[in-house]
Amino acid sequence: MNTNVTEIFGENVFDDATMRERLPKETYKELKKTIDLGLPLNRKIANAVAHAMKVWAIEKGATHFTHWFQPMTGITAEKHDSFITPDGPGQVIMAFQGKELIKGEPDASSFPSGGLRATFEARGYTAWDPTSNAFIKEGVLCIPTAFCSYTGHALDKKTPLLRSMEAINKQALRIVHLFGNEDVTTIRTTVGPEQEYFLVDRDLYNQRRDLIYAGRTLFGAMAPKGQEMEDHYFGTIKTRVKAFMDDLNQELWKLGVMAKTQHNEVAPAQFEIAPIFTTTNLATDQNQLTMEFIQRIAHRHGMAALLHEKPFDGINGSGKHNNWSMSTNTGANLLEPGDTPYENLQFLLFLAGIVKAVDEHQDLLRLSVATAGNDHRLGANEAPPAIISIFTGDELAEVIEAIMRDENYGSKDKAFMNIGAAVLPNLPMDTTDRNRTSPFAFTGNKFEFRMPGSSQSIAGINTVLNAAIAQSLEELADQLEGAQDFEAALHQLLRETFIKHSRIIFNGNGYSDEWVEEAERRGLLNLKTTADAVPYIKSEKNIALFEHQHVMTREEVESRYEILMEEYVNLLHIEACTMVSMARKEILPAVSKSQKQLADSLIAKKQAGLNLPESYEQSTLEKSAVLLNEAYKASEALAVAKEEVLILPTIEEKAAFVKDVMIPEMDALRKPCDELEIITDSNDWPFPTYGKLLFGL
Ligand code: ADP
Ligand code: MG
Repeated sequence: MNTNVTEIFGENVFDDATMRERLPKETYKELKKTIDLGLPLNRKIANAVAHAMKVWAIEKGATHFTHWFQPMTGITAEKHDSFITPDGPGQVIMAFQGKELIKGEPDASSFPSGGLRATFEARGYTAWDPTSNAFIKEGVLCIPTAFCSYTGHALDKKTPLLRSMEAINKQALRIVHLFGNEDVTTIRTTVGPEQEYFLVDRDLYNQRRDLIYAGRTLFGAMAPKGQEMEDHYFGTIKTRVKAFMDDLNQELWKLGVMAKTQHNEVAPAQFEIAPIFTTTNLATDQNQLTMEFIQRIAHRHGMAALLHEKPFDGINGSGKHNNWSMSTNTGANLLEPGDTPYENLQFLLFLAGIVKAVDEHQDLLRLSVATAGNDHRLGANEAPPAIISIFTGDELAEVIEAIMRDENYGSKDKAFMNIGAAVLPNLPMDTTDRNRTSPFAFTGNKFEFRMPGSSQSIAGINTVLNAAIAQSLEELADQLEGAQDFEAALHQLLRETFIKHSRIIFNGNGYSDEWVEEAERRGLLNLKTTADAVPYIKSEKNIALFEHQHVMTREEVESRYEILMEEYVNLLHIEACTMVSMARKEILPAVSKSQKQLADSLIAKKQAGLNLPESYEQSTLEKSAVLLNEAYKASEALAVAKEEVLILPTIEEKAAFVKDVMIPEMDALRKPCDELEIITDSNDWPFPTYGKLLFGL
């Protein structure tokens, strides 16, 4: 292992430095220009770039290339083509043309399209996204691409994300220009995703079909120990896990991912990795790579990584905190409150814009994190509730209060402020523990969206955030650009905006029951499940938002609705099938055999003349027999339900059936099975228990 990090960092990335070094000066300049201005690439430059890329990739041992894209499955897709090209009889050369770099045509008919691409015109194409660098992974040159249909519809998660970044760039620029920052020419959103995951021993994993098919345990009684001792969080990292993390960091660094922080998480066998933040599209690509390598490297170390939001009942699940801000090309973080009155005011306007966006588009933020897996977390006592709200911290809350009351802001130990010449108090940087219960928290110079699930792509989440905030900034800029007296108009607008939208601000305990009631009084949405949340994507308000910001067309939004609903139904169908099969083929027969032993022993005792009415065998057999029957009946009912769902005519009916019938039936099957596990001889239990999985590393 090469521990010289500065040397290996980015060695597998065709990054700016590599391009500068390897491309003819003119080509490099032209390429930069086309990237910065978002122009189409001309054939001549494309050929030169392709050639340099190929030479570089072959030197690094690559034999294949692929257009790497992010279809609606939420994971990445690749189809490898080797560089070989015939060159006379029996001869090949390694070739890579500009046209192969710019455009690819994977057979796309099997990717989810939500009806956008009828199979007879199944072809979609991938187009190089030169804002994200090519890289080498497992001997393959990967070219990050967007994936579209021939009718121009986005079939992936990346295209709307790029469009949303463009939308927010445009509107945020208008705001900074209002404050006289004419030197700012681009504004990029930035993201640092904190990724949680579990590790389990691979041999144990292979013995559990629920983990293999569903990524989570569908059965399993809690181990005698869980996370109650709080001895895992930030604890010393076990040698085996440390070796895995070292390996993971190496691979990520080589790919230019700035892996920075790693630690044990709250639950046993749970961990976190966080990179240093970067531009959103890059952060999205890199988070996909991080998830892929967590799994790959775990395998190398005889383990399996679980990215599922809730692999185990009874202990914490895994999320992905999406830290979000905006940066200018001049290096300023726009959510940094700043030191001067003008910086403060600009910050307050961005803050007002975000408060407005989050209030007006609560539904979209909620549904951007809605998945079957995340339904187990949100609203439970470990993750933010399913209600969207913003945490500002007390200091900022006081400032907002003062603005709404049209009063000067001041307190004994803080600088005096009035809005005309505002000086914000020094806002303390976040002290994390105090706001863990908030789904969307201001943490000093960025917002932390804490609801996303651990296995989700962050593309959709950030598309929604960017689009909603772009819209709100646009409306604010519209009101200020024509103003005769800018400061008076700004004052008025801040006041109005906070008054209208401050219901979304909540600085209390988001886990409390009082909050649920309070939120209801405030008229905030509480969309508990995916089936409740997803339909909101199709509301006229949201379609108008996406269309107006040129992020998605109506057809694209509608197709995404179909895909999200189908994904929900399909995932739960797989879980139901897995449960039925595990119950029928593993649990029920195992318990039945175990009962035979008890019965034999009971008979033997009776034959020996012992008559113990409340013997271990007698009472266990009784309990076990009752539970076994209950489990059997529940498995039969679920077996029927999983077939019924398939024949329902519409996706809405399917989703409702899953939520109202199938999930309760799954619970009804799990319960007696878990109780059986507790009273059954562990030698007879057909798969590894929670104890082994969680403490077996
Ligand atoms: P924690 O949330 O645990 O307190 P940190 O404050 O260190 O952790 O930050 C968490 C993540 O936030 C890191 O990935 C970090 O790079 C990212 N982050 C910091 N500043 C920004 C920013 N301006 N924009 C986006 N992400 C950021
Ligand atoms: Mg955090």
